[in-house]
Amino acid sequence: MGKRKNSPCSFFSIDAEIENKVDDLIEKMTLDEKIGQMYQTPYRENGTQEEKDKIYEMIKKGSVGSLFKINDVNTASELQGLAVNESRLGIPLIIANDVIHGCHTAFPIPLAQACSWDMSSIEEAEAVAAREAASTGTHWVFAPMLDVARDPRWGRITEGSGEDTYLGAKIAQARVKGFQRNDWSSNPRVACCPKHLAAYGASEGGRDCNAVDMSERTLREVYLPPFKAAIDAGAGTIMTGYHDFNGVPVSVNKLFLNDILRNEWGFKGIALSDWQTILDLMEYGVTSSLKEAAEQTVNSGQDMDMASEGYLKHLADLVGEGKVSEQIINEAVRRILRVKFWLGLFETPFTNPDEFPGKPLSKEHLDIALDMSRKSIVLLKNQNNTLPLNKNIKSVAVIGPFADNQKDPLGTWNHLADYKDVITVLEAVKVTVSPNTNVYYSRGCDINSKSTDDVINAVETVKKSDAAIVVLGESADMSGEGNCRAYLDLPGKQEYLLNELHKTGTPIILVLMNGRPLSITWAQEHIEAIVEAWHLGLQSGRAISDIIFGDYNPSGKLPVTFPRTVGQIPVYYNDRKIGGAYKVKYFDVEDTPLYPFGYGLSYTSFKYSNLTLSSKTIGDDDELIISIDIENTGIREGDEIVQLYIHDVVASSTRPVKELKGFERINLKPKEKKTIRFTITTDDLKFYNQEMKYIAESGVFELWVGPNSAEGLKEEFCLI
Ligand code: BGC
Repeated sequence: MGKRKNSPCSFFSIDAEIENKVDDLIEKMTLDEKIGQMYQTPYRENGTQEEKDKIYEMIKKGSVGSLFKINDVNTASELQGLAVNESRLGIPLIIANDVIHGCHTAFPIPLAQACSWDMSSIEEAEAVAAREAASTGTHWVFAPMLDVARDPRWGRITEGSGEDTYLGAKIAQARVKGFQRNDWSSNPRVACCPKHLAAYGASEGGRDCNAVDMSERTLREVYLPPFKAAIDAGAGTIMTGYHDFNGVPVSVNKLFLNDILRNEWGFKGIALSDWQTILDLMEYGVTSSLKEAAEQTVNSGQDMDMASEGYLKHLADLVGEGKVSEQIINEAVRRILRVKFWLGLFETPFTNPDEFPGKPLSKEHLDIALDMSRKSIVLLKNQNNTLPLNKNIKSVAVIGPFADNQKDPLGTWNHLADYKDVITVLEAVKVTVSPNTNVYYSRGCDINSKSTDDVINAVETVKKSDAAIVVLGESADMSGEGNCRAYLDLPGKQEYLLNELHKTGTPIILVLMNGRPLSITWAQEHIEAIVEAWHLGLQSGRAISDIIFGDYNPSGKLPVTFPRTVGQIPVYYNDRKIGGAYKVKYFDVEDTPLYPFGYGLSYTSFKYSNLTLSSKTIGDDDELIISIDIENTGIREGDEIVQLYIHDVVASSTRPVKELKGFERINLKPKEKKTIRFTITTDDLKFYNQEMKYIAESGVFELWVGPNSAEGLKEEFCLI
């Protein structure tokens, strides 16, 4: 046991010494041992003894290279012991887990974290997740999810960074850097696994795993850049998606693995299939047997099979029959062993449970989670400065099925957090207000039932209160994998409850806990204050209460558009400029979203002025400096997220009406003014032209700097 020794290479570059070690090992391996390395199986701690015995035997025979779903360091060490001490070549296992938003310390869901637009906080959140995951024996996390998502019906929108490519790419880099910090003296060596290559978020109709039909231009301009950014930041493994892309399931789509990932991007790490996608090929009807599926998958560049046994059962025969070359197997094994060497697993295969904090929960990690949770909250409406509430308020009602709910704030993919550690809104409000304040509670209704029996009690409770904090939304299992919705309203009778509470005349603060944008049009029209709090993890209640009572000034901005109604979907800020007489409007809904991308309010106000460009023209090797003054014109200190958008006015292929090209999160004291500078080069102006060449075309560009995608000061410049 002990710290893994620092090797001279950093994540994940080619290192001659490692390459030699890999070659030596491959020389010694039998074909079966090679195929074993290419198999990853789940290990279920609550599985039957028979299942466990099977895995023990497989490890000893060298028939498995990776395990996942082990949550306990002792089990991890026991199984690793079998690999290292009892298999012929002693090749260590690489142990993986889905660590999507924290491990023991549950952080906000990734979509919520994206509202912070704070790259160092996001990086820190993943570093905490990696440290805690490492304490359980995990070497490899199946994250970050980098799927750009423009359809909130899709349940997995919650796992990503929203609708924008530029923001998504920046967050991708921050997450990779957080998980895989190169400073191994105080951080573990954990590999991350960006997923799900690629365009999985574009599943038709927002139905999970549905087919994706997409132009190469959209794929390259919108969906691939976050993956490229992750690889450039050092990601050493990647997971493909479940979906069918333009008629070929991604897991066997050579475009992704061989052409783009390896040939274009020079990726040298592991390509991992998603769960049993080899088996899925038969479901898709593109192969008639598992053997044929294994053949197609390995020949399209998939190194490791997650959970289907297709490789294990058939690759040896396929090699014997000449349908799969041993060269392809060797390349896959090389990439797998390379990552194991990179991780230092040969030197230090076992995890020392005391090396990194996990359980009991660390105060430092909880504080980082609180900071992230506050930054994840978005203030959507604050009519007549309803918020913040005064802590000396005489009475306050805390209402709703999420008001005192510990389980749902953990959101989808809770890894090892204990719901009993979740601080609810009710609990937090009680300790925030003055000792003289009366805090009343009523549940009001269930999350998703038809019953209105409890509404009357909630109404009576609100009637006797000076303000009501009403916590509504979606349960954790309404978003995430497979959990897609056709309606985006508040489920069950929650809106009815809200409506009845509104009739009391007591000021209402609606707090939303949800995993996706909701179409809360009625609430926007009638409710005084709306706080988007998502599923925030362990520190939910504290963060929400800090916002409501003004201990923290809200700063989050939406990374995704909120539709007025589900019928507007897809609705995103950067759609392409169109022609045509009727301009893609619906006659029965306003032609704007409910809340635009980048939107979010503060308790203070910011004035944007003096937008200046260093030049009216930009040439090939030039830098255009854009500066703007931002002043805090209110009476509270606050953070503002300043956003830069551009639009290419005339181009050989149609361009988005706006594209985010820069942002900066700044802090301003009351009356303080700062000048912010952005730099644009021709690289920022490139796109795929009609011949699919990635170029910048000369001509006029519009540019906006503002507080969200719908507002801002405007200028123009010309690319010459
Ligand atoms: C999901 C992946 C996940 C894998 C392993 C799949 O169903 O699509 O995102 O990493 O399961 O749990």
